[in-house]
Amino acid sequence: MAIDKLEARTLVSNAIRAGTLVRQPCGQCGAPYVHAHHDDYARPLDIRWLCPSCHMAHHAAIRQQNRRSYLVGLNLANDLSKHKPLEQ
Ligand SMILES: [Zn+2]
Ligand SMILES: [Zn+2]
Repeated sequence: MAIDKLEARTLVSNAIRAGTLVRQPCGQCGAPYVHAHHDDYARPLDIRWLCPSCHMAHHAAIRQQNRRSYLVGLNLANDLSKHKPLEQ
């Protein structure tokens, strides 16, 4: 069964408590207060430590990337520069 976000978080906090996973400073800017970011919830202990602002920026970048590959799939990527953002 696939592991969801919540399960992944539970596994992470259990591992931190057990000492198998050690909290580290932000991988981008070195800030001491961090979130555990998952690139893939299917690998629940494969995480990146990111502070709240780097974490948010990282997710924004992922969203951008997903949108771009979505457009590539639709064959619209070449026209991307001529278009307004999709939200509008
Ligand atoms: Zn940071
Ligand atoms: Zn994240």
